[in-house]
Amino acid sequence: MTQPMLSIKGLQVAYGGIQAVKNVDMDVQQGELVTLIGSNGAGKTTTLKAVTGMIPMKAGEVTYRGKSIKGVPSWELLAQGLVMVPEGRGVFARMTIVENLQMGAYLRNDKDGIAADIEKMFAIFPRLKERAAQLAGTMSGGEQQMLAMARALMSQPKLLILDEPTMGLSPVMTEKIFEVINQVSSEGMTIVLVEQNAKLALKAADRGYVMGSGNIIMNGKASDMLNDPSVQAAYLGEGFHAGMKEPFRYTKRFFLCK
Ligand code: ATP
Repeated sequence: MTQPMLSIKGLQVAYGGIQAVKNVDMDVQQGELVTLIGSNGAGKTTTLKAVTGMIPMKAGEVTYRGKSIKGVPSWELLAQGLVMVPEGRGVFARMTIVENLQMGAYLRNDKDGIAADIEKMFAIFPRLKERAAQLAGTMSGGEQQMLAMARALMSQPKLLILDEPTMGLSPVMTEKIFEVINQVSSEGMTIVLVEQNAKLALKAADRGYVMGSGNIIMNGKASDMLNDPSVQAAYLGEGFHAGMKEPFRYTKRFFLCK
């Protein structure tokens, strides 16, 4: 097997006395879509934050394109093409959609390429085109999520890390976000996806990892995991999200209240 694009070995992360990540080993090959699923509080977001330099590692090693990135700050990783779209989106609320997209490309000098990519984002996300001059802070949650993804893509990432991109979104918006993930993935982008909807995530992914209480408890081909009875029972039941500790049947009321 070729050298992985991202390799995590023996990762540990603690918040004070709380050991949120105890032992994570994970590899991502170039061009792969790898998903990390697991229950609430399992340590998925903490793992991503440690990889992208947002919080320090307690122990372990992370290499990106063959080089250690331990202690390398997020802005430097961004310049190297490792880009994370965090949970909660973080768009620039007081800037317009176009300005947000331009900010995503601030490390690029190819003016024509940037203009062409903005048009490409508008083709992928027509909703953003319709609202190009609107302030990002006034957009709906789903629209902000689209903008956050589009802004990340404007930086021409080599590795795109998505943390819960469908969090709080309606089924229609969730479907749209997955369409884009599938499209970008089929164009060759390497993607790590943390996602509460384990079924959709495993359907889109090449491989999956399951995290529980700070450890990787299972990994394999995504299609195998989709058919694995223990994964089905724990994470894939109808109307059941991996993040929920007990099976939860959706009702109209649930969606209306969410
Ligand atoms: P979810 O699916 O609910 O987002 P997760 O798998 O992403 O969960 P993390 O957010 O990584 O889980 O949290 C792992 C553990 O670390 C949890 O017990 C959480 O309460 C704890 N934790 C997360 N952030 C902090 C923090 N800033 N300070 C202290 N503890 C934290």
